[in-house]
Amino acid sequence: VDFDTTVADEAEKYLRQLDAMTRDPQSGECLRCFVDRMVAAHGCDTSRRFTTRWLKAAGTADRDQVLRWFESRGGYCDCEVIMNALPGGHWSPPVRDG
Ligand SMILES: [Zn+2]
Ligand SMILES: [Zn+2]
Repeated sequence: VDFDTTVADEAEKYLRQLDAMTRDPQSGECLRCFVDRMVAAHGCDTSRRFTTRWLKAAGTADRDQVLRWFESRGGYCDCEVIMNALPGGHWSPPVRDG
């Protein structure tokens, strides 16, 4: 076993994961695509951490209202938001001016 290479590989893998964990939604990426990508990469921890991150990054003013709407459709965590609340297609909250 090449110890140095293994450590370097592990460190690089860790940094990539960290990078993905802290990365904001890409420009033009809808809420559903972002949450889908994050849950696929990191799994659901039964919270709506990725949903909330998207809403914050997008500057959505009425985040609570959006989260309640997800709940009314059975979206109580990130994976449920995708499966129950947003079963298909692209979706982002409507943007209000002002
Ligand atoms: Zn879940
Ligand atoms: Zn999308």
